[in-house]
Parts: sequence; C-alpha cells; structure tokens
Amino acid sequence: MRNTRTIELLEPLDDKGPQDVLKWALNKFHPRIALASSFGAEDVALIDMMCKIIPKPRVFTIDTGRLHQETYDIMDRVRSRYGIVIEAYFPQASAVEKMVRENGPNLFYDSVDLRRLCCEVRKVEPLKRALSNLDAWITGLRREQASTRSDIKKIELDEVHGNMVKINPLADWTYNQVWDYIRKYNVPYNELHDLGYPSIGCAPCTKAVKPGEDPRAGRWWWEQGFHKECGLHLKPKENSKQG
Ligand code: SF4
Repeated sequence: MRNTRTIELLEPLDDKGPQDVLKWALNKFHPRIALASSFGAEDVALIDMMCKIIPKPRVFTIDTGRLHQETYDIMDRVRSRYGIVIEAYFPQASAVEKMVRENGPNLFYDSVDLRRLCCEVRKVEPLKRALSNLDAWITGLRREQASTRSDIKKIELDEVHGNMVKINPLADWTYNQVWDYIRKYNVPYNELHDLGYPSIGCAPCTKAVKPGEDPRAGRWWWEQGFHKECGLHLKPKENSKQG
C-alpha cells in the first residue's frame, strides 16, 4: 500500500468530500488507521463523521501534560457522546524530567531551540510511537490554515513518518464549513473556541486571537519569522529547518 504509484492512482479522491474520503480510508485501513486529534473544531467534526461510518473508529491524542482543562473536558464529552476510546499517548517521563531539570518548566519562552526541544519531547516523540502501530493516519489539516499547509492533498504519503499514508479529509474546507457542520449536527466542541481560540494547542503556548487575525497567530505568539509548526506536520525540507 505504501508506494507513490498507489497514491497517484487515488488522486481522483482529492475531488471527493470528507465523508467519501473517510469511507474509503476506513474501509481500506481500519483498524490500522486512526485520527490524530487535538480536539479542535476540525477534529470533533471528523470524529462525528467517522462514527457515522463505523461504530468504533480509532482516535488518538498526544497528551503533552500542558493542555488546557477545556481540552480534557471535551475529551470526556466526546467519550460519552460517541462511546469511543481516546488513545492517549504521553511523553516519556524520563525525557520530561531531564528537560525540566536542565531548562525549567517554561523553557519554551527562552529560545526557539528550547521551544522545539519541548515540542520534540512532549509531542513529536509520542506521535512517532502512536504512528508506529498504524498503516495510515487521519488529520484535521486544512489548506487555508497556514502557508505550510496550502498544498496538502487529501491523501498523501507522509515522508517524515516512513511513507505511511496520511489522510486529510478536510483539506479544502474553510473554517466556516467546519463550523456549519458542527452546528448542523450539534457536535460537542472545545469551549476554548468560544473564548477566541481558533487553534487548540498547549496552554502556555496558545492564546486567543482577535477577529480577522491570522488563526495561527495565537500559537507561539512570542516567536516571529519561524514556521508556526511543532514538528507534527512538517515536510522533510521544513523538518531540516527545525534544527
Ligand atoms: Fe511544549 Fe509549548 Fe510545544 Fe506544548 S506547544 S510541547 S508546551 S513548546
């Protein structure tokens, strides 16, 4: 399954809606496919769609240990609404202990390198473990979210993670389309959105944005001129810029 030729053959799926893309993906890969969820608006919409296709879709989350209480609350609301298991992956305790002893608990504010170290320890390494038992993963990425995401396909090979299949069913959806879906189907959502957070991340590194502001402006807001990515969705050439 993991070869470029196969994915090229599937390119017509890029014109399909998210439910059709999910149907194809779940039919092809379940149970070795899971949604990576940070419990933002896109993720809860996808969970709702997936649960309408199969009863027990797999959903995993990276619990960095620095999430907002509202994010834990929405995890519980999703569990009770859909009866699904949220597969939580935590950072390695020994790596967090070493990092915090050497650099303090708020190291991310001190330099870009230390922020990337924290993202590596708390997010990227657990993600690698989560993906190691899968053949494909699903994300809530959308092209309009960031310049680094403007050319994503609905189905692509993830070069950073061993050429596994990466499914982005909402690639061509707008923010408004996501919210139209949430409202239409009364999908439970993260209350941080009502407080002005378009993007959900770790509590110390995410803040609300003003209306009309870049939706990613609230992520690592103190950094200027760097990719506003944590390493989860970087392409190989961007990964090398991470240092
Ligand atoms: Fe650490 Fe902030 Fe990255 Fe979360 S977003 S892993 S707290 S640097």
